[in-house]
Amino acid sequence: MSTEEKSIKPTIPLKLLVDETKTRVLAAEATSDFVNVLLSFLTLPLGTVVRVTKSHPGSIGCMNNLYQSIEQLSADNFCTETCKSILLSPRNPLALVCKNLKLNIDDTSNGKCFSCHYCGRKSHYPRTKCFCGCIANTEISEGGSQPVDKEQFVKRMTMCVITDDLQLLPGNPISLVQLLCNLGFSDVDQVEELSVDVGLEEVSKLLKHSLVSKTPLTDVFLGKRKLANISKPMDPRNSPTPSSENRTSPNHTEFRVKLILSKSQNKILGLVAREDFIDFLFSFCTIPLGSVVKLLDLNSRVGCVDNFYRTAESLDSEWFAISKSEIINAGVLKQYKCKNHPLQIPDAKNILYLLDPRSPTGKVDCFGRFMEAPHLFVVSDNLVVTPLSSPSSISFLKELNVPLNDIEEQEETMGETEALALLKASLTSSSVLNNCFKSSIDQKFNKSEVAGK
Ligand SMILES: [Zn+2]
Repeated sequence: MSTEEKSIKPTIPLKLLVDETKTRVLAAEATSDFVNVLLSFLTLPLGTVVRVTKSHPGSIGCMNNLYQSIEQLSADNFCTETCKSILLSPRNPLALVCKNLKLNIDDTSNGKCFSCHYCGRKSHYPRTKCFCGCIANTEISEGGSQPVDKEQFVKRMTMCVITDDLQLLPGNPISLVQLLCNLGFSDVDQVEELSVDVGLEEVSKLLKHSLVSKTPLTDVFLGKRKLANISKPMDPRNSPTPSSENRTSPNHTEFRVKLILSKSQNKILGLVAREDFIDFLFSFCTIPLGSVVKLLDLNSRVGCVDNFYRTAESLDSEWFAISKSEIINAGVLKQYKCKNHPLQIPDAKNILYLLDPRSPTGKVDCFGRFMEAPHLFVVSDNLVVTPLSSPSSISFLKELNVPLNDIEEQEETMGETEALALLKASLTSSSVLNNCFKSSIDQKFNKSEVAGK
């Protein structure tokens, strides 16, 4: 890139309040441009989050493995080629708002979509089969003929104070004083100001650190801490499975999976499941970060995102330029939803005449599947997914590196509670299946111990 092109890269000025030794960011004072960027994080589907942050060190639980598995699966595992593209580059439900931001790390919308020349139905993906039998292939501008709306997430004059652990507070002297007092500062002279320019590189770093660290502002702007892979097995006693109480209508979708256990190690080595479970697992990539936090009852324990969600939710609605709930819990486009899905995720705001690009016939609003059926897959404890064909079964068994007589199989049912635990563990643990099924496995091995005595 030439120096000229470099010099026109947009940046947002940000004022940091740091301690005297300049080793810690206490808070940032931000204008609407920066607040908009932070709010856009909540609208990013997890597949996009993984993709735009993967150049930075560290892994977000095992989501990076899951994403890489999709990349490596051949196209014939999916119903259509577009299914794979959707999972790798899921469309942000608020893509058109994100495009208006000064810094936008979501590159999934290029402002174009494809329309059926006969009936006018639209798709974000080329070569989508239309309801009427034609192919939607006429490239049009996504906004249609309507004037380009420059709406953003918060109103232009909004000022906010952001803490190092990403609490979003109203920008006024009172909240700043309270914050500094809470941090143990009694004298303004103990606080120094530092001005920085935030560009796209800093934004993607900030996104990554907000998912794996409790001090993302310090990490990114003072660079005092190295980003390590902090994901580790969770202790389920400290991290209760999100409750499925308070949910309006119980969801009775269930999956049957076969766990592969090592008897000597008392642990799960992997699982074998059908394509409908893989649809569900891969569909994590299509869920916006904010909707994930909401599904997990603001107890995702993913970096600082619970703090950010909670404080954004409590900001006065008057600060927002569009519906607050639509920003923080954007939902999933109906055209990406799965037929069998134990989690209750809202539909993203409806886009009229949108076709389901996964459907080979175009005859349905929601085709409901990504993976070709019938098909069996192996999922490892750290979420590497491979198709179960005979050669890969043998290589899978070899990789496990355990004596064949040590391997046992156990069938498990997976409903909403287990599905939520799986989502949470995928984002926070490096031993996802063992976390998710811990109680059931402990029970099994304790029982067999007792029986053996
Ligand atoms: Zn048509």
